[in-house]
Amino acid sequence: MSRHSPSAIIRADSPPGHVAPGDTITSKLRIGFGEDSHRTEPGGPLRLGGVDVPHDRQLVGHSDGDVLLHAVTDALLGAAALPDIGRLFPNTDTANRNRDSAEMLALAAHKVAEAGYQVVNLDCVIQAERPKLSDYHDAIRHRIAGILHLNPHDVGLKAKTGEGVGPVGTGDVIEARCVALVESTGESTVEA
Ligand code: MG
Repeated sequence: MSRHSPSAIIRADSPPGHVAPGDTITSKLRIGFGEDSHRTEPGGPLRLGGVDVPHDRQLVGHSDGDVLLHAVTDALLGAAALPDIGRLFPNTDTANRNRDSAEMLALAAHKVAEAGYQVVNLDCVIQAERPKLSDYHDAIRHRIAGILHLNPHDVGLKAKTGEGVGPVGTGDVIEARCVALVESTGESTVEA
């Protein structure tokens, strides 16, 4: 079985795509999707993707509000079918107040690794009317790669505006999305 072959289920009588408790799964790629949005308020700098971008507004959140790192965190957790960021770091826990989202992402990545997956690549989109992010594009990619011990080449990032429409277009909200591809690092047995 090649390293990047699609899911393979070792049971001759299993129909394609069907798994049953006790089945053994070998080399398997899985995709995860994360999405988040946060309001902005006057202040700054804008913490985005673990980078402090100079701006006259900042993100509002229970943690540091880093909407991009939250989307990345949920994409990775989702790929491993683990509890999402809200369940892992509940806003009812004062320990998560103003928490550094890079620390939360690193902890989530550790859980994904413990579950038997390594990250193949990420692709992210930020939707922000302001500020212009082109000068920070590579710094954000490198920062995310550093948190996850990835090659920056494996972190894609696009920055879009809201075209002046809706809460993103007025600058009141910043949104982020991320897809993550992970690969199992060994055989796993399907849960009952
Ligand atoms: Mg969030």
